[in-house]
Amino acid sequence: MPELPEVETIKNDLDKKIVGTKIVSVDALWPDIVKDIPFEVFSRQVQGAEIINVSRRAKNLVIKLSGGLNLLIHLKMTGHFMIAEDSAEISEEGKWLKTENPNLKEDRQNQFIRIVFHLDNGKILAMSDMRKFAYIKLVDDKELNDFLDGYGPEPFSPEFTEEKLAAIFKSKNIAAKKVLMDQSLIAGIGNIYADEILWASRVHPLSVSSKLSDKDTKEIYKNIKKVLKVAIERRGTSTSDFRDTDGKKGSYGDLRNVYRRTDLPCPMCGGPVERITVGGRGTHFCPRCQKEIR
Ligand SMILES: [Zn+2]
Repeated sequence: MPELPEVETIKNDLDKKIVGTKIVSVDALWPDIVKDIPFEVFSRQVQGAEIINVSRRAKNLVIKLSGGLNLLIHLKMTGHFMIAEDSAEISEEGKWLKTENPNLKEDRQNQFIRIVFHLDNGKILAMSDMRKFAYIKLVDDKELNDFLDGYGPEPFSPEFTEEKLAAIFKSKNIAAKKVLMDQSLIAGIGNIYADEILWASRVHPLSVSSKLSDKDTKEIYKNIKKVLKVAIERRGTSTSDFRDTDGKKGSYGDLRNVYRRTDLPCPMCGGPVERITVGGRGTHFCPRCQKEIR
């Protein structure tokens, strides 16, 4: 699933490539990607709208349109946006038939196009989503703000201080990993980066959050920022399906230390990485470097 670094990568790309353009028309290959209203209504409402800006909150992407409307997008498991020239051809099944960008056509992960926005700059904005869990909602500013208010602080916002993180940990008696992944407590961290942050901090994913020491909290705070920053610089992790708006992979996967490295040596001690399940999610850690605190 795209996490903060992947959604941030897409946001930065779209910010450069589509802001200031107008939506000429929208084609749906899978109309149900638009939630709450019929696709025909959606299509009519966004036609002619200008794209004012693109932002990210937690793992949500928000495209602000003229006329007080916003596209609220969650990429869920496998959603990602691509930009191509308007003369590109896409089959009814959502596969690229003809495009100037070879990345789009050659990579299987890009061949599940569900919706295409035609823009007035001669480009298209297309979303591929193999699993069909991604969605787009058309919302006004109030609906948008009410929805986004439910999220915890952004890791790079001024309100997210070490003291704030300590208070969040102290408020819960649950596994440290569950706290990191709870979007109402901290925004944007998912399975990949929670495993990497806890390994770098030498904290066991099942350690009880309220019992973590000040030193543990300090380490986790530092590593949340460090891991996410490097992952953004590396344009995300593409060990699975994530691709950027050029249809290219991110390279953070090459740097990962434990995520999906079961039985491979821990880079810190050389012992084997273990896999357990925490909150229903596959969790990777080093039992030597990360001791559980009950
Ligand atoms: Zn180790």
